[in-house]
Amino acid sequence: MKIGIVGLGLIGGSLGLDLRDRGLKVLGVSRQSQTCQKAVERGVVDEASQDLALLKESEIIFICTPIGLILPVLQDLIPLINPETVITDVGSVKAPIVDQCSPLWPNFVGGHPMAGTAEQGIDAAQRDLFVGRSYVLTSTDHTPLVALRKVEEIARSLGAIIEICPPEIHDQAVAWISHLPVMISASLIDACMSERETIVLQWAQKFASSGFRDTSRVGGGNPELGMMMAQYNKTAVLRSLMQYRQSLDQFINYIEQDNWETLEQLLKSTQQVRNQFLD
Ligand code: NAP
Repeated sequence: MKIGIVGLGLIGGSLGLDLRDRGLKVLGVSRQSQTCQKAVERGVVDEASQDLALLKESEIIFICTPIGLILPVLQDLIPLINPETVITDVGSVKAPIVDQCSPLWPNFVGGHPMAGTAEQGIDAAQRDLFVGRSYVLTSTDHTPLVALRKVEEIARSLGAIIEICPPEIHDQAVAWISHLPVMISASLIDACMSERETIVLQWAQKFASSGFRDTSRVGGGNPELGMMMAQYNKTAVLRSLMQYRQSLDQFINYIEQDNWETLEQLLKSTQQVRNQFLD
């Protein structure tokens, strides 16, 4: 089976490495010629090109570009491929993509592997990135079952756990556990860097250890990805941010009012609920 991948970065490149390890022929298209060359050298793909025509005989095509390019890539692919080709994407936002792509290509299956690192580009591609991670497929009333099963089978072969979910619910859920944390983590870094006392900031940098490393990790990731999460999932991200602001105000109030007992109760409750939530 020939698999096509458009966008040979962290996700597209990692996908290519795993699919080739499983004996599939992988054809890759990327924007830059140096990325295509590196992808072949690193064994991410069997063949690579900057021209989408390379993918014309692929059975399944994964679009792994930044979110804003998924629709334009699909539109450019349509004249080149046959109607049985299944197209799927890996974008971190689903409803606007599925709404726009499904009417253009009936064999479209929205997807989102819940795996990543703070790195980007072909150099960040790694084997087994998807093992043990959720891989969301956003089925709708119009998604053909055969197409869904084909993508599901490939995603399962990566060691991922398949979850099927409506696109709108996916977007609201990931706003809480992925997009909101990026905004909070980035604003944490921004707030910390606004410290005006140079000596304090210098010592803070020396003291920074696992706590700051953990809480700032997602805010220090791919800026284009963070921006597109907010842009394409604006309603859900804003809703989560507003609720977060209320929670933050509550913490500020308890501290201002020396309300240590209530603050401790709240921290006991977040300690307990975190363990349950992540179990
Ligand atoms: P990335 O590392 O920046 O990779 C994207 C790649 O797309 C770039 O390397 C670029 O290749 C290529 N590209 C850009 N424009 C293109 C075009 N017009 N035609 C062909 N290729 C093009 O980003 P990523 O983290 O892999 O994210 C890719 C997608 O995965 C996004 O939709 C994102 O929402 C989703 N996703 C990301 C994560 C994560 O944690 N990073 C997790 C799950 C899903 P060149 O090097 O050739 O310019």
